[in-house]
Amino acid sequence: MSADAVVIGAGAAGMMCAIEAGKRGRRVLLLEHAEKLGEKIRISGGGRCNFTNVDARSENFLSANPDFCRSALARYTPRDFIALVEKHGIAWHEKKLGQLFCDGSAQQIIDMLRAECDDAKVQWCMPAKVATIEKRERFAIATDRGVFESASLVIASGGLSIPQIGASPFGYRIAEQFGLAVTELRPALVGLTFAPDTLAQFGDLSGISVDAVVSCNGASFRENLLVTHRGLSGPAILQISSYWRPGLDLSVNLLPDRDAGEILESAQASEKLLANVLGEFLPQRFAQRWVEFNFENQPVKRFGATRLREMAQRLHDWRIRPSGTAGYKKAEVTLGGVDTRELSSKSLEARKVPGLYFIGEVVDVTGHLGGYNFQWAWASGYAAGQAV
Ligand SMILES: Cc1cc2nc3c(=O)[nH]c(=O)nc-3n(C[C@H](O)[C@H](O)[C@H](O)COP(=O)(O)OP(=O)(O)OC[C@H]3O[C@@H](n4cnc5c(N)ncnc54)[C@H](O)[C@@H]3O)c2cc1C
Repeated sequence: MSADAVVIGAGAAGMMCAIEAGKRGRRVLLLEHAEKLGEKIRISGGGRCNFTNVDARSENFLSANPDFCRSALARYTPRDFIALVEKHGIAWHEKKLGQLFCDGSAQQIIDMLRAECDDAKVQWCMPAKVATIEKRERFAIATDRGVFESASLVIASGGLSIPQIGASPFGYRIAEQFGLAVTELRPALVGLTFAPDTLAQFGDLSGISVDAVVSCNGASFRENLLVTHRGLSGPAILQISSYWRPGLDLSVNLLPDRDAGEILESAQASEKLLANVLGEFLPQRFAQRWVEFNFENQPVKRFGATRLREMAQRLHDWRIRPSGTAGYKKAEVTLGGVDTRELSSKSLEARKVPGLYFIGEVVDVTGHLGGYNFQWAWASGYAAGQAV
C-alpha cells in the first residue's frame, strides 16, 4: 500500500499528472471516488470535448495572480496535447476562435487518457473514499480501501461545479487542513438569472439569441447572448459571468456592427413602428419586447430627436442587472481556489508543505470559455507530473 505519488481525483488534471509521473518511472496510484471515470470530460463541449484552444495564453485566465499560469502553460502547450490526440488517431476540428473539438465524442479523450495511464503503469483505486490525510515523514492517506503511503500527494479533485457527477469541496478542505489560503469561490461560466419582474418581461423569449457585445467589470465579449426561462445564457453571458458580481450591471451592445444613431435618424420620418425598424437588425420578437420594455412601440416619427438619440445610446449600451447566477449545478467551473501564492508556479507544489501539490481547477486559475480550462488541467498536470 505504498506509492511514490498518490493522485486524488482522476479527472483531466489528475490523469495527465499520473501519466507523466508514471512515464518517469514513478509508482503512481490514482484514487477516485466516482464510480465512472471522466464524467466531466464526457459531458464537456456538448459531448465532443473542447479539449484545448490553440491561442491559450495567460490573458485567457482569471486569477488573483494573472502571471501564475504562464510557466506551466509554456511547458505544455496546445500543440503538445494535439500531438497526443493525433498519436491516438482521434480526429478533431476547429469550431471557431481557436477552439478544438473531437469529431467523434469526448469518450475518445477519456479512453486515450486511460490507455496512457495503462502504458505508464498507473495503479487505480476506484471507487474509493478518502477518510483522512496525515503527513508524517510521508503522507498517510486513509481510505475505505485501506491506508496508502506516499512521498508525494497530488490534489486534483477539481472544483464545485456539477456536484451530481462527483464534484466536491475536498481539495479546498485539504488546503485548509495544511494551512494554505483559498481565495473566494464562485460559480463561473454560468448563466445569469433575472429578478421576477424582469423575467416576466423576457422569460417567454426563451430560446432567442442575439449576437452582442456584453461588458462588465472591465471585460467585454462578443458572442451570442441567449434568453432562457431563468434569465440569460449563451457564450457571451457565460464568459462575462466570470467577471460579474452581485449588484453590477451588464452593458449590452445589441448592434455591435451598426450605428444605431444612423439607423434611427434615417427612419425618423417613418410611419413604421419602432420595433419593426429594429426588427430588421435584431430578432423580431426580441426587438418588440425590448422596445416595450424600454420605450413605447410607436411609429418612429412620433419620437423627437432627443428621444431617438437616447434610444440609439441604449441600443449600444443597454444596462441590465442580473439578480444572481444559475449556481454550481449549472456552472462549468469554479472561480477562485487554492491561493497561487501558496504554490510554486513551476511544479504546483505547496511552498509550506513539501510533497503536497494542487493542480487543475482546484487552483485559483480559471480559464475563459473555449478549451482553456482543459489546457490548464493538462499543463498543470504535466508540470506536477515532472516534479512528483
Ligand atoms: C458541462 C461542462 C462542460 C465543460 N466543457 C468544457 C470544454 O469543452 N472545454 C474546457 O476546457 N473545459 C470545459 N469544462 C471545464 C472542465 O471540465 C474543467 O475545468 C476540468 O475538467 C477541470 O479538470 P480537473 O481535473 O481539475 O477537475 P475534474 O475534471 O472535475 O476532475 C476532478 C476529479 O476528482 C474527483 N473527486 C472530487 N472529489 C473527490 C474526492 N473527495 N475523492 C476522490 N476523488 C474526488 C471527481 O470525481 C473528478 O473525477 C466544462 C465543464 C462542465 C461542467
